[in-house]
Amino acid sequence: MSAAAPPPALAVDGLVKAFGGVVAVDGVSLAVAAGERVALIGPNGAGKSTLFNMINGQLVPDRGRIRVGGNDVTGLPPHRIWRRGVARTFQITATFASMSLRENVQTALLSCHRRMRSLWPRASGLYRSEADDLLARVGLAEQADRVAAELAYGDLKRLELALALSNAPTLLLMDEPTAGMAGGERGALMATVSAIVRERAIAVLFTEHDMDVVFGHADRVLVLDRGRLIAAGSPAEVRADPQVRAVYLGSYVAEAGAS
Ligand code: ADP
Ligand code: MG
Repeated sequence: MSAAAPPPALAVDGLVKAFGGVVAVDGVSLAVAAGERVALIGPNGAGKSTLFNMINGQLVPDRGRIRVGGNDVTGLPPHRIWRRGVARTFQITATFASMSLRENVQTALLSCHRRMRSLWPRASGLYRSEADDLLARVGLAEQADRVAAELAYGDLKRLELALALSNAPTLLLMDEPTAGMAGGERGALMATVSAIVRERAIAVLFTEHDMDVVFGHADRVLVLDRGRLIAAGSPAEVRADPQVRAVYLGSYVAEAGAS
């Protein structure tokens, strides 16, 4: 007999957010377990970014609850939610263009360690080897001394991933992580994300328009339409769902055969 299961990394319960007359998120409940990669898909305007913005504290929900590791974080400001181990890539991450990649990651590590109230590192290095380890983990070891401004777009996304990981997150939110990337680069970035998530048992919630990325890198898929979840399941189940095909997948699944 096992003890009671630990609370999920993220639990969202009955979340509602309206902008004037538009109910952008209309009673959404979901959970993401440690080590699980959940894709949130749906047409433009479905409410995906609004949901993310509530989870990381940029927007206060009208109704509902958000729990991170069992702790209620509903309505807390972003920096306090970040302190609870929630990281978000690619939209709010600031990179310092004139600093080297190593210095960027060292800065992020410093602010994270301050959050954890650990002692200021003495024998200096200021987390240098920790920063280099993170850069190596995202495939940027060779570029640690370059300044961020010189990076190609795909590598900038890898740097932003390293910065998010500096927060030692239990939950990683990625809103369209591969937007603007070339097809091959997308798969490579998501393969890196998947490997790291598995190693560190991080929960991931991501939105994505590239169905190859969704079906290749999600353990579970949730479909949002006009603020409501209309389907949930494995990639194969969601791909076969007639309602999902009607509102969203359209031609993509049509190619896979079936009526
Ligand atoms: P998605 O990310 O799925 O494309 P959004 O969450 O951005 O969808 O938008 C959901 C709905 O809420 C849309 O109708 C959008 O126009 C509206 N909306 C989003 N943010 C705001 C805002 N700050 N003010 C007013 N309406 C908004
Ligand atoms: Mg969006």
